[in-house]
Amino acid sequence: MKINELPLKNQEHERLVSCTDGNYHGLISIHNTRLGPAIGGTRFWQYRNEQEAINDVLRLARGMTYKNALAGVPFGGGKSIILKQDGPIDRETIFHAHGRFVETFGGKYITAEDVGTSPDDMEFVRQETQHVAGLLSGSGNPSPVTARGVFRAMQAAAKYRWGSDSLEGRTVAIQGCGSVGYHLASYLNNAGAHLFVTDVDERKVETVVKDFGAMAWAPDDIYYADADVFAPCALGGVLNDDTINALKTEIVAGAANNQLLEPRHGDELAARNILYAPDYAANSGGVINGCRELLGWDAAQAAAKVDEIYDTVFNIFQIAAAEGIATSKAADRLAEERFKLD
Ligand code: NAD
Repeated sequence: MKINELPLKNQEHERLVSCTDGNYHGLISIHNTRLGPAIGGTRFWQYRNEQEAINDVLRLARGMTYKNALAGVPFGGGKSIILKQDGPIDRETIFHAHGRFVETFGGKYITAEDVGTSPDDMEFVRQETQHVAGLLSGSGNPSPVTARGVFRAMQAAAKYRWGSDSLEGRTVAIQGCGSVGYHLASYLNNAGAHLFVTDVDERKVETVVKDFGAMAWAPDDIYYADADVFAPCALGGVLNDDTINALKTEIVAGAANNQLLEPRHGDELAARNILYAPDYAANSGGVINGCRELLGWDAAQAAAKVDEIYDTVFNIFQIAAAEGIATSKAADRLAEERFKLD
């Protein structure tokens, strides 16, 4: 196992480390541990080169600091990436190597699943280190809990915009009927909302249509839907110059990470009077769920904390209004107050 401490261009991150071990090539970045050990998942993805992966791990680690600070959990932000190589993949060998790399951080970094990794992979990691969450035997699938948090964020937005947090009779356009989108549709259906749904996978759309009486939309058309709320639950970067112009909804609240293509798109939403529930505030239910495993919380404690997403998001809206800034900027400020040293 060859470990390399990589240079950092600025003081913002604490560490950036690379590790190679046979076919394994991993990166771990710790952004900030002021509030506690850094927690953030492992992404298993193919990149054009190491620099592209470095840029991604630094950006993702930073995002975790903000998400954890706003969620009010005692953790800092970090992230890891395993660079996917061409050819056959031996997941057992790769995730054992990753576990050994995580272990070298001595608990300053705790990993979990992210894009491209599963609870099964984390079981291999666990055989090398204790510093891993999201195991099948632990807090389990975070998606229903994430969906609950997004639902709470949406209720807060409804209260702020319409004076009542009831979503009964409101129409919500959900982009992505995957793990979170499905459970969000369930919460909304129970709350009496009408649903427009889309996914590139038609079978997933069919399930939500069948289970919750949703109306199916084509993926490219969902931005134009005449709905009250747009809920991005698929990909990042979906709030951009093209889509913001198309949106007819008064509220955007969803689960996807990095919904704004660029920070300025938060200002664009505000300029169009679209109330945006910042993604990392709305989707922190998964991280909170992980605290059951990491901090020994019971399900009721985690659920109460997830329900607080309502207050956090509402507070963000109030700060944004008072200071005349976009809600995305207000969220950043609130998080920074919590994790930055004077
Ligand atoms: P998922 O993979 O189960 O679902 C995503 C769905 O989006 C898939 O069904 C996919 O087919 C669909 N999709 C992809 N491209 C699309 C497009 N262009 N138009 C419409 N649909 C498209 O993932 P998930 O776990 O439900 O997570 C959804 C989003 O929420 C992701 O961005 C994820 O990073 C974020 N998130 C998830 C959690 C969690 O607990 N699962 C926590 C925080 C954030």
